Amino acid sequence: TKQNGRNNYCFFTAEMQAKSSRMLELDSALRRALERNQFTLLYQPIMSLNYGVNVGFEALLRWEHPQLGSISPEEFIPVAESNGQIIPIGEWILRSVVKQLKEWVDAGNDRLMVSVNLSAVQFRDRRLTEQIAEILKENDLDPKHLVLELTESVAMEKPESAIVIIDSLKERGIKVSIDDFGTGYSSLAYLKRFAAHSLKIDGSFIQNVPHDPENMAIVGAIVSLAKNLGITTIAEGVENIKQLEFLKETGCTAIQGHYFSRPMTAAAASDFLAVELVK
Ligand code: C2E
Ligand code: CA
Ligand code: CA
Ligand code: CA
Repeated sequence: TKQNGRNNYCFFTAEMQAKSSRMLELDSALRRALERNQFTLLYQPIMSLNYGVNVGFEALLRWEHPQLGSISPEEFIPVAESNGQIIPIGEWILRSVVKQLKEWVDAGNDRLMVSVNLSAVQFRDRRLTEQIAEILKENDLDPKHLVLELTESVAMEKPESAIVIIDSLKERGIKVSIDDFGTGYSSLAYLKRFAAHSLKIDGSFIQNVPHDPENMAIVGAIVSLAKNLGITTIAEGVENIKQLEFLKETGCTAIQGHYFSRPMTAAAASDFLAVELVK
């Protein structure tokens, strides 16, 4: 009815209004978050399936606001991208990770790798390669320990320019991993030209293993294709032993997920490494 239509309309605007006021709230809170030390990084272990040992971590950003509470990166990263804050925040992330990595490498973890998520805005920033090279130099860290995660959809948005940027990072010895792989429609030709160090198979393909034969076939195809191109594979979101066993069978290189470990604080990650050096 007319009445209903009108109510729906009101409801819709109210919802939109709530959404945009939340955005405004996050936008202004984000502008102060760095100076107020509201960010922390957690480290989630990545375990090799060949040797059953830890091979590295993925750094994951956390934002704790005194009034707004803890806000998911899925929600605030897009806001930080639109207001430009992602540039200083991204630099803070890189500095923090490299500093932490240096400590871990100096403690004897010669083969440790830590990956850092790159936002689309950071990836397209012309200063990126120089900036990272500088941070590595300042901290006297061998670039072989650093991996940058770039989502497949960002890489595929402008694949030709992505190839140029990835190559410039590779020239500096910095590795690139293609994140959320399988969700962004890469052509196989590009996959080869991206010359990535690794592919991270999106968690959505792992979720229903072993009950989803189609997803299992996709995972199998990704792993064998990557293997033929000399690229390692990391399965994300591994939550149980059935998934682990399937991935081991297909020849996937490594896994990441709650089954092995949740993201942990830097202090906990140090303890974790103290038990098992990554040599
Ligand atoms: P992502 O890069 O795909 O990160 C993996 C997400 O899966 C993380 O969520 C992680 O906590 C979660 N996860 C790990 N193991 C499991 C599991 O077994 N099951 C399930 N269901 N989830 C698992 P998180 O930390 O909330 O991050 C969400 C997204 O936010 C990330 O997705 C990434 O796109 C973005 N993000 C996180 N940290 C950063 C950062 O430092 N910089 C940028 N630019 N983006 C970040
Ligand atoms: Ca990632
Ligand atoms: Ca991912
Ligand atoms: Ca994701």
